[in-house]
Amino acid sequence: MGDAPRRFHIITQGCQMNMRDSQAMAGLLAGLGYESTDDPADADVVLLNTCTVREGADDRAYGRIGELRALKRRRPGLILGMAGCLVQKDRERVLKRAPWLDLVFGVHNIHRLPELLREAQDGCMPAYEVWDRSDKTAPLPVLPAARGGTVRGFVNIIHGCNKFCTFCIVPYVRGRERSVSPEAVVDEVRALAADGFREVTLLGQNVDSYGHDLVPRLDLADLLGRVHEVDGIERIRFTTSHPRDMTRRLIDAVAALPKVCEHIHLPVQAGDDAVLKRMHRAYTTAQYRATIDAIRQAMPDASITTDIIVGFPGETDDEFAGTLDLVEAVRFDACNTAMYSPRDGTPAATHADRVPDEAKRRRLYALNQLQERIAAEVNAGLIGTVQEVLVEEPGTRGGVLGRTRTNKIVTLDGGPELVGRTVAVEIAEAGSWVLRGRAAAVLV
Ligand code: SAM
Ligand code: SF4
Repeated sequence: MGDAPRRFHIITQGCQMNMRDSQAMAGLLAGLGYESTDDPADADVVLLNTCTVREGADDRAYGRIGELRALKRRRPGLILGMAGCLVQKDRERVLKRAPWLDLVFGVHNIHRLPELLREAQDGCMPAYEVWDRSDKTAPLPVLPAARGGTVRGFVNIIHGCNKFCTFCIVPYVRGRERSVSPEAVVDEVRALAADGFREVTLLGQNVDSYGHDLVPRLDLADLLGRVHEVDGIERIRFTTSHPRDMTRRLIDAVAALPKVCEHIHLPVQAGDDAVLKRMHRAYTTAQYRATIDAIRQAMPDASITTDIIVGFPGETDDEFAGTLDLVEAVRFDACNTAMYSPRDGTPAATHADRVPDEAKRRRLYALNQLQERIAAEVNAGLIGTVQEVLVEEPGTRGGVLGRTRTNKIVTLDGGPELVGRTVAVEIAEAGSWVLRGRAAAVLV
């Protein structure tokens, strides 16, 4: 009998880019012979991949790492690690707050996980490595990925952000923009297709600025064209877009390429020009609405989703009313909403003119109520239509769950044999978040 395999468990907080980073960590650990386990109590290595976009994310991460400490008492020899954006922000302070950690590494050190893990296992000190940002001239490390599931895969196409919106900590923790070469993107997408994946999402904080730093220069429309040629991939998505960088050329490419799904996530953040200016977003509400019109002209059935922050410093009731007006006028399919959270080191955090928490909560509630009503109305309009649904996984309450091309979640009856198949589904019921339908035919 050989030794029992060593196991790892990774907890991911935050956005899809963190999900992809966790898959890279999983791939590196699998390369060392580790197996994944769903139960942290069963693992020899537990990693928490953190987010720091709002203060609540920091609190959740430190809370979780506190809970995980109990595992170390029960399982001596367990390596407990923390990674991700909060580590990048807090650096050594992470070890002051959680001295029981064995391993701490930043967002630019993921490829160093095998060495750092060895250090943590060999030494009596925690292994710690947080690089400021990856060397601009050094090639981006090619990271493996152990992806859960077999239907949707995520591929990073651009790292970092150059925009410096005044509320946002991302450029400080993720560094400046660096595009992945189109060859590397296409290779990764081909590998996904060979593994049976049907859908790919091209990821970045601002995918619309893809390629400006490459020689020869190219753009997201060019990249979509190249990814489109990969056989076996049926659907292509991309996120996140920036209103300032969304071009007519990109909209036309999305409309023209059949595999590229007609869903655009276009964060507006606020519906008032003075607030947008203070946020350093570099567009006006009129420009934003002109872009929405161009998308709808090119793709009348496109879904459009957004992110909005309420209670940005100095936001008056009138300025917030502008946000409600914009939401009412655009009729987004969905909206991620959040109360402004000051992030140390960002310009907005120094504004004295903070909106009281009570006003922020009131605004958030009003916005969510409005958006919920609009989403329910928009989705009700789909009842009786037939949608192409790519089935992703068994549902938690029976049946299966998939997505329309417009990124709406649909539940339907059926067994696991439907996972990975594209099904024509007649929509029978619709709520603000989820549609319910009947399979009319299995298409692919
Ligand atoms: N790059 C994207 C963009 O341009 O909108 C979004 C990336 S950001 C990580 C995701 C969302 O978090 C943002 O759209 C914003 O709404 C929200 N966010 C970022 N900083 C925030 C803050 N300080 N307080 C509240 N929400 C914040
Ligand atoms: Fe943050 Fe703005 Fe960059 Fe988005 S575009 S990641 S909100 S700085």
